[in-house]
Amino acid sequence: MKIPVLDLKPQYESIRADIQEAINRVLESGAFIMGPDVKLFEQEVAEYLGVKHAISVNSGTDALVIGLKALGIGEGDEVITTPFSFFATAESIGNVGAKPVFTDIDPKSFNINPEEIKAKITPSTKVIMPVHLYGYPAAMGQIMDIAKEYGLKVIEDCAQSFGARYYGTDSDLNSKFTGTIGNVGAFSFFPSKNLGAYGDGGLIVTNNDQVAELAKALRAHGAKKKYHNEMLGHNSRLDTLQAAILRVKLQHIDEWNEGRRRVAKTYNQLLADIPGIITPELADGHVFHQYTIRVLDGKREQVQQYLASQDISTMIYYPIPQDQLPVYQGQYPVNPMSIQLSKEVLSLPIWSEMTLDLQVMVVEKFIYALK
Ligand SMILES: *Cc1c(COP(=O)(O)O)cnc(C)c1O
Repeated sequence: MKIPVLDLKPQYESIRADIQEAINRVLESGAFIMGPDVKLFEQEVAEYLGVKHAISVNSGTDALVIGLKALGIGEGDEVITTPFSFFATAESIGNVGAKPVFTDIDPKSFNINPEEIKAKITPSTKVIMPVHLYGYPAAMGQIMDIAKEYGLKVIEDCAQSFGARYYGTDSDLNSKFTGTIGNVGAFSFFPSKNLGAYGDGGLIVTNNDQVAELAKALRAHGAKKKYHNEMLGHNSRLDTLQAAILRVKLQHIDEWNEGRRRVAKTYNQLLADIPGIITPELADGHVFHQYTIRVLDGKREQVQQYLASQDISTMIYYPIPQDQLPVYQGQYPVNPMSIQLSKEVLSLPIWSEMTLDLQVMVVEKFIYALK
């Protein structure tokens, strides 16, 4: 039997009737662009996250680009971010004309190391952009303190962390959802994400009225009023069909994130005391978009190949840190921790409904492959 890295079918089967009803409603209405479900989804997701404004867009990448532009970021500005993320993070910064400045990561959380941020701040620094990688909330308490001290904005890349909550030591931010702590939060509804559409989709959230107004104009060709365009914008609206699907799925997100945490906890129990690996921390509020192990002693490729030969899919997020990708032609110095982790990380199959039997199969083969 093949074990994929993600199986979306059990989830679909559990909501099939509601999804088909939602799709039919949109098809019958004919309101495919900015139909009523878009507004309703925005209201419902804003209420869920406890944030004033939710502006839906065409993708997580667009949420980052439009979020940056709505914060006034552009040519000559520097944005401090993590090297260890999907390229959309750095790409969005470059696409608004700004320069990404990469700061190394903390090996426990895989996220930007707040201790190293201050050394990267220059007079051109405008924004810190943490990524809540794999669903593990970044160190928002320290990041917000630094932002306050230096007068910087914060935009959170929450593509992998829908429904994750931040908990820190002594922090008044405790239990806030990721995306609602900085000036802007950017979410992705790419189908494999924790809250996934059946196509592309994204969301910008903010508590700031001006930022929200600008983001709304930027997603619709820079027009606050139709045919009265005030600036260069984008065509980046969330399809009504996807909004209707997301309204159904939003009702289940807590239970699905709980399912992912349960699977992660079980993996950690099954893999406890196995030498040569480091299992991920079950941090409070973590929603395990990925369950990612560190495989030490240069054995990762051997393990991945053996598992593939046994029909078990695994993934490497990410084999090359963003700052070392060919696009940058070696212009950035290496960040040693991110390089090391890019050689060790291996993400095992995880989805909310994954059964114990499948997990035991994965773990048995994994342990065999390590020998
Ligand atoms: C998926 C992802 C994005 C981009 O989201 P899209 O909806 O695919 O454009 C950005 N950042 C991170 C960390 C991601 O995982």
